[in-house]
Amino acid sequence: MRPYGESKLVRIADTVADFVAAAEQAMQEDTATSGWLSRVDAFLEQISWDRTWAAMMKLLDSAIATRDLEDKANLNGAIAGKQAPNVITREFVFDYLIVGAGFSGSVIAERLARESGKKVLVVDKRNHIGGNAYDHYDENGVLVHKYGPHIFHTNSREVFEYLSRFTKWRAYEHRVLASVDGQLVPIPINLDTINKLYGMNLNSFEAEEFFKSLAEPKEYIQTSEDVVISKVGRVLYEKFFKNYTRKQWGLDPSELDKSVIARIPTRTNRDDRYFTDTYQAMPLHGFTKMFENMLNHPNIKVMLNTDYREIEKAIPCREMVYSGPVDEFFEYRYGKLPYRSLDFKHETHNTEVFQSAPVINYPNEHLYTRVTEFKYLTGQEHSKTSIVYEFPKAEGDPYYPVPRPENQEVYKKYKALADATPGIHFVGRLATYKYYNMDQCVAQALATYKQIAVTA
Ligand SMILES: Cc1cc2nc3c(=O)[nH]c(=O)nc-3n(C[C@H](O)[C@H](O)[C@H](O)COP(=O)(O)OP(=O)(O)OC[C@H]3O[C@@H](n4cnc5c(N)ncnc54)[C@H](O)[C@@H]3O)c2cc1C
Repeated sequence: MRPYGESKLVRIADTVADFVAAAEQAMQEDTATSGWLSRVDAFLEQISWDRTWAAMMKLLDSAIATRDLEDKANLNGAIAGKQAPNVITREFVFDYLIVGAGFSGSVIAERLARESGKKVLVVDKRNHIGGNAYDHYDENGVLVHKYGPHIFHTNSREVFEYLSRFTKWRAYEHRVLASVDGQLVPIPINLDTINKLYGMNLNSFEAEEFFKSLAEPKEYIQTSEDVVISKVGRVLYEKFFKNYTRKQWGLDPSELDKSVIARIPTRTNRDDRYFTDTYQAMPLHGFTKMFENMLNHPNIKVMLNTDYREIEKAIPCREMVYSGPVDEFFEYRYGKLPYRSLDFKHETHNTEVFQSAPVINYPNEHLYTRVTEFKYLTGQEHSKTSIVYEFPKAEGDPYYPVPRPENQEVYKKYKALADATPGIHFVGRLATYKYYNMDQCVAQALATYKQIAVTA
């Protein structure tokens, strides 16, 4: 009403009939000659969202100040033996502020909104949802993963069934070739890998003997180098792992925790799947579509291009779920946690197929580690094809927590701080400094939601 209605900048209608009449009158009015248009323009010139916002904040602050005074008075009254009147509580627009619209943030937002009826504000500093799993159609209309290939695989039925509420799936088993000694051979190393590489025709039993003859057993397996050399020996280690790992992590495998390479099996059969999980599939219409379905709820508002620090004071929420880097949250109090980053070079080629496998690893030649051709992953049919090269680097967006014992020690200190920070839940790859896959992020987010829901 004030000042728009009073100053006759708009018409105010009390009933439906009044509304129709006012609308008809407005449509007949010659707004230029009546002077209405110039009055509205003059008024709007005086205001902006920033000013409105500043005025709202002033009102909020003065309400808080009044409440504080009243609280004090109540306290004094209570001390003097008087009955304290009702305490004024501040209404929150949102129950939860969720920082990050990747898997970790989106799953918790969805659960809190849909299952617990909470009002949730999701903010992300990027201009899109989905976090690192974001995919989109490039300028040629090919579906690509902006932050490198993301292949979904899990052994968790709970995770798979949960995500199945938001997407249909396309069955997909991932396969990778490695460019070694001028040939393309399967990785993880299997029977075909060694037969092709050495021009042999071994069967599974003979392959087992072959690996044994190369292996250098170690009493204590501590590093990634120990893992590989104790299984397949130094020659295969150097052909497939040493330089790839150096490029990927900027560290020699002898400096990296054994967990990094322990993930990669060696096989004596012809199984050339990269993963052997029970559930292996890609979202039928892509990851971003799945995230859109997840976040499509009246209780969820999404704010992009926004660092949470820009709005956390202006839009107070009861609690926060944080999926950004934990060291950044605590302003690097114990120093920076090392992350490995990547440069992605995306290209589109005017041919239907570019390479003979979804991913080709380059352990030894080139500065990039691997090349991915997206149409294998997405099943899209298109006359052109898009690929991405990955160039590892030390600085840039934080992608991979570097798994070394000394980094874990620093993380432990941040974790202690996080545990001692009430009302904030730390989740995901960056906030818990863990080399998690997508399914692990979903599992962790579901578990965190269950904890929150107890008190929510
Ligand atoms: C190159 C690459 C390939 C991968 N391939 C696979 C794969 O094949 N299979 C698999 O299972 N997993 C894969 N992963 C791992 C997968 O990306 C992660 O497990 C998952 O996406 C992590 O989800 P998250 O929500 O924890 O973090 P993220 O996806 O990183 O989301 C965190 C979000 O928080 C936002 N944010 C951070 N700070 C702020 C702030 N101050 N204010 C507002 N927003 C903020 C970020 O912008 C980001 O969008 C891969 C990862 C990479 C880097």
